Amino acid sequence: MAHDDSGSTDGYNVIGSHDELVRWSRAYCTRAVDRYDFSVDVTLVQWEVSTRAKRRAAAVKTPNVDGTTVGKPIDWTTRSIGGATTTPPACTMSLSWRAFESFDRDEWAATLRHELVHVEQFQTFGATDHGPSFRRRAESVDAPIRVRRFTDPKYVLSCGDCGTDVAYRYRDCKLVRESSAYRSACCGAILDCRTERETNDNDAT
Ligand SMILES: [Zn+2]
Ligand SMILES: [Zn+2]
Repeated sequence: MAHDDSGSTDGYNVIGSHDELVRWSRAYCTRAVDRYDFSVDVTLVQWEVSTRAKRRAAAVKTPNVDGTTVGKPIDWTTRSIGGATTTPPACTMSLSWRAFESFDRDEWAATLRHELVHVEQFQTFGATDHGPSFRRRAESVDAPIRVRRFTDPKYVLSCGDCGTDVAYRYRDCKLVRESSAYRSACCGAILDCRTERETNDNDAT
């Protein structure tokens, strides 16, 4: 399968805030729905950025719908889901800021396609899983069957004055090697760089 728009400079590398990450990801998903023929209404997806989730790169949060199963299309018009004002009801794409920082553009885009398969299943069936039809669909849209667990950053840079963590890096880079040449935005102070301990737990994603 051809890589979509690879090599284009579409702003991924200059994303600097949660709002920009949501804007980029929503725009990407809107294009991907066309390009990969997803049966998804992106306007019924809400977005959030999590700074706490440390293991999952992204997740789709859906309302619970009784008696649904993947493979059995749901007739939303006969359902009333508590509090929902649309059919299908909205689901939420939750993006991990720290995963975004550790993924390059192609991996982030593939992660979004993985999550779009979940949205497609939810909007079609009222349920979603990682079963055989998920796997077939993920392969057909060039998405991973499991989103890679991402690891905690190797380096944490913090403000030398107030101690606030100001940046994370996953590999050695100029900022890490010459951290004292940079200044924090909060206090204009020298940055301290510390190495995070590697973690090796294995919870499911
Ligand atoms: Zn998944
Ligand atoms: Zn500070």
